[in-house]
Amino acid sequence: MKNKKESWVSVPGNSDFPLQNIPFGIIKPYQSDPRPATRIGNTVIDLSVLADFGYFDELEIPDLSSFYAPVLNDFIALGKKTTRLVRQRIMDLFSLGNSELQSDEDACTMALFKADEVQMLLPLSIGDYTDFYSSVEHATNVGMMFRDTANALLPNWRHLPVGYHGRSSSIVVSGTEIHRPKGQIKPEDSSFPIFNPSRRLDFELEMAFVTGKETNLGEKIPIDTAEDHIFGLLIFNDLSARDIQRWEYVPLGPFLSKSFGSVVSPWIVTLEALEPFRVDGPEQYPKALPYLQFTGKKNFDIQLDVYLKPEQGSENLLCHSNFKYMYWNMSQQLAHQTVSGCNVRVGDLYASGTISGPDPDSFGSMLELCWNGTRPMVLKDGTQRTFIQDGDTVIMRAFCEKQGLRIGFGECVTKIIPAL
Ligand code: MN
Repeated sequence: MKNKKESWVSVPGNSDFPLQNIPFGIIKPYQSDPRPATRIGNTVIDLSVLADFGYFDELEIPDLSSFYAPVLNDFIALGKKTTRLVRQRIMDLFSLGNSELQSDEDACTMALFKADEVQMLLPLSIGDYTDFYSSVEHATNVGMMFRDTANALLPNWRHLPVGYHGRSSSIVVSGTEIHRPKGQIKPEDSSFPIFNPSRRLDFELEMAFVTGKETNLGEKIPIDTAEDHIFGLLIFNDLSARDIQRWEYVPLGPFLSKSFGSVVSPWIVTLEALEPFRVDGPEQYPKALPYLQFTGKKNFDIQLDVYLKPEQGSENLLCHSNFKYMYWNMSQQLAHQTVSGCNVRVGDLYASGTISGPDPDSFGSMLELCWNGTRPMVLKDGTQRTFIQDGDTVIMRAFCEKQGLRIGFGECVTKIIPAL
């Protein structure tokens, strides 16, 4: 794109983090405390240093303490009006031709890091966590495998975004190794369960959004203003132990099969950065109830790839999906979440549910890709998989691309290690 604004910080051609992205995360530089940061190309920028040197003074934010906090909750709570100004200020400071910061050697020395020199931490103190089930292809595939082909979708599915309240304590940042969970599993040929490490450990390819504006108990978020409450998005790997899930989920839904570790990517990409990538979602039929009806483009064209890397070996592409396939969009999810009066808080997380597309290579879980263990995949090293093995690393990548502009999320990396 000819008119794309460039930065004086170098940005490799295929980078997820051009000047137009400006995501937010929490870094821990060597021997320093965690603090908020952003990233341009392979350069990570310490926002507490920019605040120290007065680079945000002109924004007249009454209290700059959130620029020094170990999580982004207070920063996000400043509100979209302010966080938009902060993003714009960062873009200006790093624009080619602006020497205000570039010529300030002391500030640059202290604020700029190479991305591989800093540790990325969980960017939020996550309050509540919801997992939806909003991909029609995923819900249909699972229904076909576990119920019957003719009635794959349950009667409520096309009338409301199905979801459950999950566990936030076990949500961790990309790079955290996860032990294979143990639990109750009922063998097919027995009426009694055994206690064993899961033999059917799976990933779920999801995106999650973060709420940035709280509501009071009893208040609902109207669908037309739902996006005012959404700060940004992350990649979300909802690890699932299918054998534990199958025995425990009746009648209240997933419990321990999904609370042994869920993994998020470290950078929160703002809704503003994703603006150019809005698209229409799938047509919804039958028409939803009025509180779920919306106008405009509420889906986003975000390409999603999942790779599996064996302990000794290279990456294998397992699936290529897209966030645009979601049947229920984020505005509908948030309108539904709050319609009974449930309040939301800053830093709550709402995962999309597994994002599967129409083609077999776009399915967002091993359960679907290998059709409940019946169609093993062969990796480049000749080994087969139907589920994740110990030593395997699952790598999820997400990015948008249009007319030469690429806005990405980086990676969500999860290595599975043996059960404790
Ligand atoms: Mn899920």
